[in-house]
Amino acid sequence: MHIVQPGMEIDVLKENNKIANENYRLLKSHKIKSVDFMGSIGAGKTALIIKLAEKLRAKGVRVCAIAGDVTGADDYGRFEKSGLEAVNCNTGHECHLDANLVKKSLAKVDLGRYDVVFIENVGNLVCPADFPLGTDYRVVVVSTTEGDDMVRKHHDIFLHSDIAILNKMDIADAVGVDPNVIMEDYKKLTGGLKTMYPCSARKDEGIDEILAALGF
Ligand code: MG
Ligand code: ZN
Repeated sequence: MHIVQPGMEIDVLKENNKIANENYRLLKSHKIKSVDFMGSIGAGKTALIIKLAEKLRAKGVRVCAIAGDVTGADDYGRFEKSGLEAVNCNTGHECHLDANLVKKSLAKVDLGRYDVVFIENVGNLVCPADFPLGTDYRVVVVSTTEGDDMVRKHHDIFLHSDIAILNKMDIADAVGVDPNVIMEDYKKLTGGLKTMYPCSARKDEGIDEILAALGF
């Protein structure tokens, strides 16, 4: 949780944005494309990143990941096991990554060795929206298992992200969720200007479309 006193919030966000700009310039100086993946615990961020990275690596693109979590090294372990080189980034108490934590993680990476950095944010649909990290893209991942009201409940994160992904399409029927409701809500929220990308990271469906949306 980020607890701030009145007036302090502005400073915290200002400082974050300043460091985010530094991160952006650092990544650009190495010609690295970067993506911040936000979404709840269980949305399937880790599996999606692994799948996207596999496809990119098969094309010769060099990918590195930053595994953001409050504590532990579970996602980091999953990345490494899949062959995706990664850095673990524990926030300690905070329920979101901030630009300074990412700056410290980037300092551990030999940036000359990579073309892409994927950042998995802490599982949370609320405060990551307020903390840009300095990436090219901000992506929000939701899954059908979270119910059909995710867009209606979390306007901010959908409005603060460049791309929205609806994961676990393969089990939508089983959990009794109509994906069209979620996609329609998103269309309404974004004034019909943006579409949500349906996919199943596990079944490897819709992954190429996401890569295309990210400019690969
Ligand atoms: Mg994860
Ligand atoms: Zn937070």
